[in-house]
Amino acid sequence: MLTGGCYCGAVRYEAGGEPTERALCHCSICRATTGAPAVAWFTVERADFRYTAGAPAVFASTPEAERAFCGTCGTQLTFVHADYGGKRIDVTTASLDDPESAPPVEHIWTRSRLAWMADLNGLPERTMADRP
Ligand SMILES: [Zn+2]
Ligand SMILES: [Zn+2]
Repeated sequence: MLTGGCYCGAVRYEAGGEPTERALCHCSICRATTGAPAVAWFTVERADFRYTAGAPAVFASTPEAERAFCGTCGTQLTFVHADYGGKRIDVTTASLDDPESAPPVEHIWTRSRLAWMADLNGLPERTMADRP
C-alpha cells in the first residue's frame, strides 16, 4: 500500500496495487500549476485509490482534466483526464510518504521540457543541512 498526503497533513490518501505507470512529466501545465520545472507521477487504478483524511480542492486545468490539491497548503495530489474514463488516476510521486518507493521510469511530454532540465547533472551541489 502506498500512502501519502499534502504538506500540512490535512489531506491524506492511500493507493493499492502496483503503479501501472511512473513518469516525470515535463508538460507546461504541470509546470505552471505547481511552480516546479517537472512533476513526477505514478498511476494506479481508480478503484485502488482513496482519500483517508480530508478532501482536496479541485480545479479544471483544461476542459478535460481535473487536478486535486490541498486547499490549505497547496500541495498538488492527483490528476484525472476525461480520457481515463474513470479507470485510472495519476498521483504526485513526491506527495508519497516514501517518494523513493515509486521512482519514475520514463520522461513524458519532453517536447515541452525546459532546456536546462536536460543539463542538470554537472551543476555544483550544496547540502542544506537545516531541512529534512
Ligand atoms: Zn495541506
Ligand atoms: Zn504534465
